[in-house]
This record gives sequence, C-alpha cells and structure tokens, in this order.
Amino acid sequence: MKIICIGHNYAGHNTEMKTASPAEPVFFMKPDTALLIKNKPFYYPDFSTDIQYEVELVVKISKSGKHIDPDFAGNYYQEIGIGIDFTARDIQAQCKARGGPWEKAKSFDCSAPVGKFILKNEFPDLHNINFQLNLNGKSVQAGNSKNMLFSFDKIIVYISRFITLRPGDLVFTGTPEGVGPVKPGDHLEAQIEGQSLLNMKVK
Ligand code: MG
Repeated sequence: MKIICIGHNYAGHNTEMKTASPAEPVFFMKPDTALLIKNKPFYYPDFSTDIQYEVELVVKISKSGKHIDPDFAGNYYQEIGIGIDFTARDIQAQCKARGGPWEKAKSFDCSAPVGKFILKNEFPDLHNINFQLNLNGKSVQAGNSKNMLFSFDKIIVYISRFITLRPGDLVFTGTPEGVGPVKPGDHLEAQIEGQSLLNMKVK
C-alpha cells in the first residue's frame, strides 16, 4: 500500500504557513513504513527538534482506479478515518530553502499514525464532517471538510491521473490551521464528529 498526502488544502493553514493556496491539488507520498496503527506510541526521532502534528481526514481507497471519472469517484472509497501527518518542520524548512523534495521531513518511519475508520455511509454529508485534535486534553486543531479547497472526490480524480490507486491505499486530505509541536510525554487524541478514533502517546 501507499500513502498519498495532500498539502495546502485548507486556506487557514496556508495563511499560517504563509503559502499561497494552490490552483490544483499538491500531493506527496509517504512509504508504508510511515504507517503507525493500533494507537502505538510515536517515538520522537533524533534527527529533529521540531516535530509538529497535522491532523487530517484520511480516505481509504477500496478499489483500483486510474483516470477515475469524476462522476464515479465516490465508488473508490467506502471509509473515512483520521490521522496525523507528522512533520519535521525544521527539516522541512531546510528542504524548502533548497527548493528540494520534502520526503526527509514528511516520510520518516511512523510519521503517519492512523486511527479507526468509519463507513462513509454513516456521514449525512461528506462535505460537512467535523474533526479535531486534542493535545493533552486540550483542543488544538478543529476542522471541517467543507473548508477543504479540493474535496475527497476531486483529490482522488486528480491523483489517479498520475498514479494508479489500489485498495488499501490511504489519502491524507490536508490539515486545517493550528499545527504545532509535540514533545515526549504528550498525549494526542483525534476525533471525528466527537467520536474518539485515535489515541496515542509521544515517547
Ligand atoms: Mg499535512
């Protein structure tokens, strides 16, 4: 499986990062070794001193697709979950300064914790899904899918022009504003519509 992440998909986050909102989706990838499941702890890596959380809705691909037709994009995913796109912000700044790729800052081991998934049909409206991240019991990020610049369907159609999607692939759909640092000892809990789906420690 592969993990594809959308960047700059919420205007509020783009403002805090001082980045212009893109005209088409921006994506990058994490390898399967980035996946962290079952609420396992995240071990703070030795190569960074500024690991930051980015809470994101995650789409699980259910069917192989290439050049997906916009009218049928919804047929390619049945479940939505929540994850954290851990980012070594200090290394990302170095990568950006060189104009080079971000992988070192985004794709390291365990940089993609993912919680439980919910069947898509359980949401009355996919364009109105509330989600949030609590850090040590306090809300630090709150988002709603209506604020995504590119919807789940648009993202899937776009990616599939370039990369074949396969069952089990995960698509991180971008983070709202409020990103910030973690430190060893922190507790992270992510919710969709008040339902706790990811619960983990930083060690
Ligand atoms: Mg992100």
